[in-house]
This record gives sequence, C-alpha cells and structure tokens, in this order.
Amino acid sequence: MTDPWSAALFRDTLELIAEGVTELVGFEVAAVSVVEDDGRLEVVAVAGSEDCRDQLLGHRTPVEDIQAEIDNSESWGALRFVPHERMGIETANLGWIPDIEVSDDPNAWHPLDLLLAPFYDAHGELRGMMSMDVPTDGQRPQPEKRRQLQKYVEQAGRAVIAAHDRARLAEQVRLAETTREVIRRASAEDTLEGVFDYAQKTMIQGFNARGLWIRTFDEGGADVGRVFSSRGIDLALPPFMAELGERTARMLWTEQDVAVLSSELRPDYVPEEAYARVVDFLKAVGVDSMLFAPLGVGTRCLGNLVLTRDADQGDWSETEKRAVLDIGHDLGRTLLNTRNLERERRLNEELRTLDGYKSQLIATVSHELRNPLTSVAGYLELLDDTDGLDPDSRRAIASMARGVSRMSGIVEDLLTLSRAADPTVKAKRDLVDLSQLLDEVVDLATPTTTQRRIKVLLDKPDRPVTAYGDRDDLDRVLTNLVGNAVKYSPEDSEVHLELSQVGNRAEFRCRDHGMGISSDDQAQLFTDFFRSTNPEAQRIPGTGLGLAIVKRIVDRYRGEIELESGLGEGSTFTVRLPAPAEHD
Ligand code: ADP
Repeated sequence: MTDPWSAALFRDTLELIAEGVTELVGFEVAAVSVVEDDGRLEVVAVAGSEDCRDQLLGHRTPVEDIQAEIDNSESWGALRFVPHERMGIETANLGWIPDIEVSDDPNAWHPLDLLLAPFYDAHGELRGMMSMDVPTDGQRPQPEKRRQLQKYVEQAGRAVIAAHDRARLAEQVRLAETTREVIRRASAEDTLEGVFDYAQKTMIQGFNARGLWIRTFDEGGADVGRVFSSRGIDLALPPFMAELGERTARMLWTEQDVAVLSSELRPDYVPEEAYARVVDFLKAVGVDSMLFAPLGVGTRCLGNLVLTRDADQGDWSETEKRAVLDIGHDLGRTLLNTRNLERERRLNEELRTLDGYKSQLIATVSHELRNPLTSVAGYLELLDDTDGLDPDSRRAIASMARGVSRMSGIVEDLLTLSRAADPTVKAKRDLVDLSQLLDEVVDLATPTTTQRRIKVLLDKPDRPVTAYGDRDDLDRVLTNLVGNAVKYSPEDSEVHLELSQVGNRAEFRCRDHGMGISSDDQAQLFTDFFRSTNPEAQRIPGTGLGLAIVKRIVDRYRGEIELESGLGEGSTFTVRLPAPAEHD
C-alpha cells in the first residue's frame, strides 16, 4: 500500500480487531497477515505480549506452506484448525511458538496446534489470514467460542480484501494513466529519441522505478543496437548481457510474457552462471531488480525494455507486469513507424541525388551535342549546294539532313527539359500575348496540316489574351500540344483550338479527334521519356519528352493542365495559366 495514511489506518483497524480476539474472545495472541506481491504472507498486525509482537510483526511465510496446512485442516466454518499431530509446516517457519505445558487432556490446546482463518477474494485467491494462539482457558475452542471468533475474523477478512482491492484499483488507475501518456506521446513524436525520452520520464514515475533502459535490435534503422537509458547516455551493455537480453526478449515476445530478475529471484531459463553475472552487473549499475519486457509488432520482436528498482522499492506486481507488456506493444509500433519514416527520408534523399545526376548528365550531353550537330547541318547544306552531284548522293545528303534535324530536335527538347526542371533558373513573369503566339504556332504547323488535310479551327476573342511567363516557354507549351494534336490525328480530321480568359486565368484548350489515350497511359503521360503503350501511337516517331516539358513549364508558372481522353475517343488538353484579372 503506497498511501502512508491509509496504510496506517489499515493496520490500526486490523490491530483493533485482533485485540477484540485476545481480550473479548480469549486468546493470548491474534495476528493478521496479508499476501504481498512476492507471494508471501506478511504479518501486519498483532495483539498480544510485547515479546510476541516483536517476533511476529513483519514475519513472512510462503503462501504454499500455509496453503498446505489449510488443505490438511479441519474446517470450522470460516476457521481452519490443524491439530499438532497433523501439522506439516516447519516449526521454524511459524514465527512464534508459545511456551506452554503439553497436557494429556485431548481437548487441551497444544503449543503446536494451529488455528487460522484464510481470507479469499472474489476470484478465490488467498489475500491474507488471521491466526490465533493460546486460548486463555487452555482448551481447544468449542462451538460457542468458535462462533464468537467467527465474527471477528469476518471483519478482519473484509478489511483485508477491501484494502487489497483498493490498492489494486489505485495501481491500475496509475498504470493506465502512464500507459495512456506513453501512447499519446508516441504517436505525436517523430524521432525515437523524443519518444523514448518521454517514455522514460513517464514510466519511471508511473512505475515507481529507478531507471528504464530501452534497447533496439538489428532490423535496419539508425537506432540499431542502441540502448536508450534514463540517464540520458547510451548505456554500455556487456556482450553477454546483450546476447542474453536479445534471446530472452525474442522468447518472451513469442510467449507474450515478461520476466523479473533480482538479487533474490532467478528466472528458470537463465542459467546459474549467467544469472550471477547479471546480478553483478545490476549491482555495478546500482540497482537490485529488473522487470524485463519485449518490444515488438506482430510476430517481430524489435527490442526490449527494462525497468529497474532498488531493493527498498518493492517487488513488481501483476498489474505492473501486464501494463509494461502493453507498453512494449505500443513502443514497438512506434519504433517500426519511425524506422519506416527514417527509411523513407533516406530513400527520398537518394532519389533526389540520383535525379540531380540525371539532370546534370542530360544537360551536359545535350549541350555538348548541340554545336557539332549545328556544324554537321551546315556542312550538309554546303554539300547539297555543290554542282554536279549524282541523284544517289543527293538522296543520301537529304536523308542525313533529316537525321541531323531530328537529332537537333531531340537535343533542343533535352535542353528545354533540363532548363524547365532547374530550380536555380528563376521563372520570368513577362506579360505574354497568347493570342499572337497561337497564331504563329498555327502558321508554323500549316505545311503539315495542309499536307494531311487537317482543318484547324481557331476560337479566340478579338482582344488579346495574355498570361504571365516567358515567351519561349509558353511557345513550347502551345507548340507541343498543337503538334501532338496534329501528329496523333488521322488525315481529314479537325483540331479545335480555343483561347479565353476566365477570371485571373488564361485558358487554352486543344481538342482533337485522334487515337486518344488510355487511362493507364494517362497516369504516366507527363513523365520524362514516356511514350504511349498503344501500338498505333508507337508507330509515329517521338521522344516522349514533349508533354514532360509542357508539364514542367506549366508547373513552373503555377498553372494547371488537365486531360480528358479515352482510347479511340480523341483528346482534350486544357491549360490554365496565371493572367492579369479581366478588368485590369
Ligand atoms: P512524343 O509525342 O514525342 O512521343 P509526348 O511527351 O509529346 O511525346 O507524348 C507522350 C505520349 O503521349 C505520346 O507517345 C503519345 O502516345 C501520347 N499523346 C500525346 N498527345 C497525344 C494526342 N493528342 N493524342 C493521342 N496521344 C497523344
């Protein structure tokens, strides 16, 4: 019982009842014992001579010894009588033996006769007992005296059970509070140090412990194999302790159990020699006992936690053992979450680095290719101007020129892509006349549209529609979208282009009646180098860079792009870009 005031009151009450037995019923001694956490009965109240009080108070007997006597006793209602002939308990374990004569009278009280009343709780667990010795009339109690006695032992029994229930309830409330605090914090913190630090403070207080160590096992994570100790430093665990700890934690996790080890208690599965070393280690760090619990999630044991106590801090109760097992589950889940977060952060970091390499590679290679390609194209033009070339040579030159022009296109696309993705290049905010830009784009596409008999329908207001951005960038957006609409449309079809101003947005819509794009392809459409999986589209040459460039540019100017399409249904791309508000 932790509350000193109620503990004293409890003892006084029991002493009063015991005095009633000695003075009013007629015994020289009456004692009340309660079952302590370590499973022993401890005498907490005695009525009788000074000498026997001194010897009996605080005396402890293992519950099994008393239980064996009870099993062997005569039942007198709530009382149990063990005549000395039947007594099996070691006399040394009795705590006090009266110094009285042994009589021949079969009804006379014998110094080794035992009379007691066990107290059981609602679950049938032994919680305490009252024992009486040396009746003042020297006789083994007859029915009348037993009836009188019965009243007193019932009172004492009620007091003991109520006190036990109260203490257990208070402990449960305290531990539930502790567990709740740990869980609350565990879900709010995102670093292990934070979670463990808080768990330590809360648990040491809640469990009335000296310290707490939390250890994590090797499952990947920066924390691997570390011991977070309550003194704020990484405790150096000797290798044999680390090995024994890990083995025990894994076993306990499978059994969903905890273990107690102290200078007085060796768990069965810890061999003598290892036990002695652990006790030495505990002594060296200044503690007496430890409550050891595994930490894990599902079938995986991820670590262990150890609560420690000094010798005067008492034993670990069943409620505490259950609570610490629960906390092992909560901290296990937190450990896993933080490790996953950590891994995610690391992967993101690696991906960013890789992406940086890729962009750098693309920028460097395309830059290096640009000049040689320009010079090859120049020489091809010169060659083509040469007189007297035979038709085969001219065809070869024309074919080379087409190849070079395609390569230059790709290099330009790559350069645009890396520029559009470069965060160090500041986005311009010029006011660009999209109406004029669109006219130019349509003009440039005319040779192709004419050749393929594609009708371009242009729908835009008379007054200019403007947007913020860089002219070349916005030109790319329109050129790529219109170019694709024409490229992926059949001959003799129509492409609709609409330009309008909606609030503070300029809106460009490009609708074709071409082959369309499946929803699976739509999900990846704007990624670098993505080309449709549709075989019909694959037959048309392309690099898969056009839409990636469009998306990067639109993002850069904080615009949006939308697509409505389905395979065989044509496609409509809509781009909205920031623009001056209509009345400006
Ligand atoms: P490219 O056209 O060079 O392959 P893009 O990035 O411009 O690269 O387009 C990616 C893919 O999206 C193309 O391979 C094509 O399959 C599909 N696509 C783009 N625009 C259209 C369109 N208007 N109609 C049908 N498919 C299109």
